[in-house]
Amino acid sequence: MTTANQSIKPITTKINKEGNLEIGGCDLVELAQKYGTPLYVFDEATIRTIAKEYKKAFEKYPKVSMLYASKAFMTKAIVRILDEEGFGFDMVSGGEIYTASTAGADMKKCLFNGNNKSYSELQMAVELGIGLISVDNFLELALLDNAAKAANKTVDILLRVTPGIECHTHEYIQTGHLDSKFGFDLTQTDEAIEQLLDEYKNLNLVGLHAHIGSQIFETSIYYDEVEVLLKEMSRIKEKYGLNLSHINLGGGLGIKYTEQDCPPSINEIAEKIITSVKENSKKYNLEEPEIHIEPGRSIIGTSGVTLYTVGSSKQVPKGKKYVAVDGGMADNPRPSLYQAVYTAQVANKPEEPPVETVTIAGRFCESGDILIQETKLPELLPGDILCFYDTGAYGYSMSSNYNRVEKPAAVLVNNAQSDIIINRENYEHLVSLDVIPDRFKKEQGY
Ligand SMILES: *Cc1c(COP(=O)(O)O)cnc(C)c1O
Repeated sequence: MTTANQSIKPITTKINKEGNLEIGGCDLVELAQKYGTPLYVFDEATIRTIAKEYKKAFEKYPKVSMLYASKAFMTKAIVRILDEEGFGFDMVSGGEIYTASTAGADMKKCLFNGNNKSYSELQMAVELGIGLISVDNFLELALLDNAAKAANKTVDILLRVTPGIECHTHEYIQTGHLDSKFGFDLTQTDEAIEQLLDEYKNLNLVGLHAHIGSQIFETSIYYDEVEVLLKEMSRIKEKYGLNLSHINLGGGLGIKYTEQDCPPSINEIAEKIITSVKENSKKYNLEEPEIHIEPGRSIIGTSGVTLYTVGSSKQVPKGKKYVAVDGGMADNPRPSLYQAVYTAQVANKPEEPPVETVTIAGRFCESGDILIQETKLPELLPGDILCFYDTGAYGYSMSSNYNRVEKPAAVLVNNAQSDIIINRENYEHLVSLDVIPDRFKKEQGY
């Protein structure tokens, strides 16, 4: 059985009576007119379906918690949806923690992760009662113990480790290999545990955390990851008599950006993880642990599309044809950052056959601001609405105001209804934090 991360398009995508693309019962051309472009559109049905697919896939294992990796895309509305679906939140900054807590997430189900958390972020996490903190390094052990002591609390922690597993994804999104900035090397866990036992009385170690990378297509990697963690847990049990009860496997399941991509289903991943937990718990003589998983991209990626309006074009003599849209690397840095590849369709003429090979360029002042290299599309004319699929993850969350361009709006669609979940920025927003020092004001009358 396939799951929604294996489809390029949101599950409600179709062509309507007007001959336009429709998602969540909303005509994309109408959405572009109503809200302007660029516009991020999120399909609520796809998000909820994938969240339910995750829960169902792990149903047969009794001790599983799902945490959504907020960094993929977080707004208060997304927090509400995933909280309703029973998810906790994996967060990596004070800003993400603030968003989750002000949107009513259950802090006990959350985890705070990151390789250089500040003392004030750690204090905030302790005060808000975040369920687990994944401690990344020696400095953090000391800082967090101080923060916990100051609040007169004991904090449950995981140790983030690098399991030494390489996955075949872009090097910038690999994290589990040994030469990584994240977590303790497995040769350093003893020292961390000894410090914990001797000095850090306000920290309670409950398990291990790892995350091996992102946009992963190989299921066997999860089997190996579980094995490495359980083997380490059994070593810790023998050496220190500590019975750790949790393993957090991170996220990483891939999605389908193009026809060439074949990500595994959520069921296949779950199967591998559960099999490995059962086999390796037996092999290493451990009680079966509580499993935490933290999908980000695979929860939100497929649900989101970006709409752009087509503008100018340039035919390089005897060369490429460039067609420019009204967004680009500021609303989606992934193509320029990781050579990420996307699939696009013309929302106002989705059934027209492709007739030319074009390169879709962004509007930002960098030659590298190219969204798609050489793709076959119908003839693109100024005013056409181009729909980019699979922009839900690491799009808005990585966006910037480069060139002082306002960040686009995001809308949530469901059952023919569309609701703004993030307002479009305006010029006032862009200058709202600027300050002209007084001495300029006095002398020049600003
Ligand atoms: C980024 C990250 C995730 C989510 O990764 P996806 O590829 O988006 O699923 C989960 N856990 C940790 C620790 C991460 O850093």
